[in-house]
Amino acid sequence: MVTERLYYSDSHLIEFEARVVDVTDRVSGWTAVVLNRTAFYPTGGGQPSDTGTLNGSRVVECIDDGDNGVLHVVQGAAPVRDAVVRGRVDWARRLDHMQQHTGQHILSQAFVKLFNAPTKSFRVLEASCQIDVELNNPTTEVIERAVELANNVIWEDRVITILNVTPEEAAELPLRKESAREGELRLIEIEGFDLTPCGGTHAFRTGEVGLIAVRSWERAKGLTRIEFVAGMRALADYRKANKSAREMAALFSTGRDDAPQLAAQMVEENKELHRRVRVLEEVVATVEAEKLLTTADAGIVTEVFDGRDVESLKKLAHALIAKPATVALLASRDKDTARLVFARSSDAPGDMSVLMREACTMLDGRGGGKPEMAQGGGKRLAEVEETLRLIKQKLTED
Ligand SMILES: [Zn+2]
Repeated sequence: MVTERLYYSDSHLIEFEARVVDVTDRVSGWTAVVLNRTAFYPTGGGQPSDTGTLNGSRVVECIDDGDNGVLHVVQGAAPVRDAVVRGRVDWARRLDHMQQHTGQHILSQAFVKLFNAPTKSFRVLEASCQIDVELNNPTTEVIERAVELANNVIWEDRVITILNVTPEEAAELPLRKESAREGELRLIEIEGFDLTPCGGTHAFRTGEVGLIAVRSWERAKGLTRIEFVAGMRALADYRKANKSAREMAALFSTGRDDAPQLAAQMVEENKELHRRVRVLEEVVATVEAEKLLTTADAGIVTEVFDGRDVESLKKLAHALIAKPATVALLASRDKDTARLVFARSSDAPGDMSVLMREACTMLDGRGGGKPEMAQGGGKRLAEVEETLRLIKQKLTED
């Protein structure tokens, strides 16, 4: 092996000395350095790469090149071949990955122990982690039972041991999952709880994981995809969730835990208010129509409003054309859009759809409908009044 992998035997080793075996330029313009030994964990097995420094230059990523060793991608001045360098792994990132990864071993085994549900895949994401579990009919209650067991194992502070065994020895052991690797196997044993082959970095004791919490879950491709956070990510997520909940509660001038009930109450009240507003709009439209009809010129009512939406214009139009031989040409300057509704009673003249298309052309917009009722809109707010005047003229000329 070109590179001795120090992280296999000591996951807490972050400072080391090594000799440079090879240096190659990368397409990115950065440099890849191969060392005779390394404490840097390269991306693999669902666990992201370590970062850190080599003689003070940033190591931005490490790539596993199999028998050719571990590539340390260096940004900045790279060491030369045969130089002895000092490496330093970013501890906060390593600890975070160990908490997520060890947490995953514990949570996955909890699902096996309680529900005989194995984990099919695992990913460490930016702020959380995902496992895909063969768990049928998941419910929050079922998942929380596994979370409960996992946290108990964490708080029992069980010892975690690395075992190197032959394939024959492995065949006799109760492994949680099969390994795809050939030859000697590296097993991670959580005292009295879990035994599984893995090449990642793990905590020394389960207590180091701190806490596991499930953020959400969903059914995906016949499996249950569970998003969880462990250790410092669980604390960060708690802070974020608590902040959101308290900000929401402040809107209702109440305590955090009372906010959902008040929010639900407000949603209900809002629905009821909408219903009452619709009823009142009908009443207002009738009264308004009576008043507007006194301004009708040859049976044509034209009016431009401010800030009225299409639904409101349509209600008014309906109320107006309830009177025989009436045409309603209504418009509204609603924010930055001109809205139009044209309507006529069944015995009044004119094709509203045709007139609407003409009006919309003048307003640089679009619209259409039926001969008795049409709606549309446009962008030229300043020309709304002139447009209605021209349409009314056309209607009386016909
Ligand atoms: Zn592992």
